[in-house]
Amino acid sequence: MSRFWSDQVAGLAPYVPGEQLKRPNLLKLNTNEHPYGPSPRALDAIRAAATDHLRLYPDFGATALREAIARLHAVGADQVFLGNGSDEVLAHVFNGLFRKAGRIVLMPDVGYSFYPVYCRFYQIPHEFIPLADDFSIRVADYTTPRATVPAGIIFANPNAPTGIALTRAEVEQILAANPDSAVVVDEAYVDFGAQTAAPLLGRYDNLVLVHTLSKSRALAGLRVGYALASPQIVEGLLRIKDSFNSYPLDSVAQAGALAAIQDTAYFDQMRHAVMAAREQLVGRLITLGFQVLPSQTNFVFARHPDHSATSLHLALRERAILVRHFKQARIEQFLRITVGTPGDCERLCDVLAEILNALGRGG
Ligand SMILES: *Cc1c(COP(=O)(O)O)cnc(C)c1O
Repeated sequence: MSRFWSDQVAGLAPYVPGEQLKRPNLLKLNTNEHPYGPSPRALDAIRAAATDHLRLYPDFGATALREAIARLHAVGADQVFLGNGSDEVLAHVFNGLFRKAGRIVLMPDVGYSFYPVYCRFYQIPHEFIPLADDFSIRVADYTTPRATVPAGIIFANPNAPTGIALTRAEVEQILAANPDSAVVVDEAYVDFGAQTAAPLLGRYDNLVLVHTLSKSRALAGLRVGYALASPQIVEGLLRIKDSFNSYPLDSVAQAGALAAIQDTAYFDQMRHAVMAAREQLVGRLITLGFQVLPSQTNFVFARHPDHSATSLHLALRERAILVRHFKQARIEQFLRITVGTPGDCERLCDVLAEILNALGRGG
């Protein structure tokens, strides 16, 4: 504790990312990174951007990238807001749309654990809405009128860490029932089989979508995320950004992200490879006795009826395999396992079989 701290620092409780251990032969299935590399075209563009030009500031509007993202989602370039990873985009969204006197924000009790961190940081009152018993988001909980109109609603779709998705029609019900609340849908994993709500942007000015290049585009290290919303919302987000950091995306990131967005063939091939590996992994986990929630993401959320997630997590870690375990009510019996290559999944399941055998013998 330093006496130089401002008042807020002592009380900060930051997000805790999955560990990034350095160990030979480590299998990292704990942070939902993509098992294959980014598009070779993105890597070429990144190399080509490493020139003398780095002495210049980047394009602060990231024009070429914004236009490419706008084309991808069939929206206007003035509906795209870019940030240094979607976590930064989310930070500006919470700041810009959710800090409203006397109004609260609704979110699922099991969701992306960064949301409550932003709420505490910005002192935004919030209410956790319990997921249904099957861990799905119950739409009706968000469509019943409340005495005070919420400032906003936020959830990931597909949800994290459950992997379960709402359909576009269900998202639309929430939008239609909350015309005076900002409804933020974090579509970090949408490319792995769920429906994007992007076609609804034209009809709902309360919709904000958040996307990242970290998951389905395999560029977690480059730090690029974006929001899609009405031009009026984006205009406000841009003013927040320019009051904070005019250049969140460096020129190397802009070039790499643009090439990755343009390489649709590689993108489709790789996301389908991950989805196929997921189905294999789910089948194998079920054979090992796990209960697995239906995933439309690049991870699975699974529990074993006979063994605690804590002991499985530790046993895997001892054998150089990292998965994610959240010590949180309702989900403490679950492991979140990132879908790797078919070889990665096989190694995981072989090791799990060994662990279950050993634990079983021990009684
Ligand atoms: C990974 C993830 C993010 C953050 O992505 P970055 O762009 O890497 O900051 C945001 N939301 C959810 C639900 C995620 O899983």
